[in-house]
Amino acid sequence: MIVVRGEDPGPFSRHRYYVTFLQVAFNYRCAYCLTPDCRLGGLEAMKVDHFWPESRYQELRLAWINLYYSCDVCNNRKSDHPRANEEEQGRQFVDICQEDPDDHFQLALDFATGDYCLVTHLTEAARYTIYRLHFNRRPFLRDLWREIHACERRTLGQLESAMVLRNQIGATDPQATQLISDLEHQLDQIRALRPFPIAG
Ligand SMILES: [Zn+2]
Repeated sequence: MIVVRGEDPGPFSRHRYYVTFLQVAFNYRCAYCLTPDCRLGGLEAMKVDHFWPESRYQELRLAWINLYYSCDVCNNRKSDHPRANEEEQGRQFVDICQEDPDDHFQLALDFATGDYCLVTHLTEAARYTIYRLHFNRRPFLRDLWREIHACERRTLGQLESAMVLRNQIGATDPQATQLISDLEHQLDQIRALRPFPIAG
């Protein structure tokens, strides 16, 4: 989903002052790895990243449109990239404010673990982003994505069992219907945590 940021809440004299506004604008997730901030220590653990590096775009240091909500690791890995020579070669990060990450990344099956926790690229920008931000070399991300996948499988199993039960006891049983509705809701919430679509 593309992030649509609202009006500039500033101007502020320090980029950190934008962080609470960025948290809401970026839906409480890192702009790059899309990890929910509640899994990372909340607002205090998050950084204000400069999409266009501060070192070369001084004029955008406090520009609302250049400030991105980022986890500490993505922010560090991104550093001052893309550098001038990379930019000349057309290297760029996937920009969640311009493009839907779903059009760039997919989660593929990792045969080593049996889980969908291997990020693959659909575009050059995604390839560069995966490489620079080490998406496939960060155990925390891999474990989080594995956990989401395991949770989804478990809930799907419960849902299937509930449907079988409802068929046995009667399609209009209110308790069984409520249980199915709750499990479907849980499934939606679990799937919403997944950063990128599953490779089809
Ligand atoms: Zn991140």
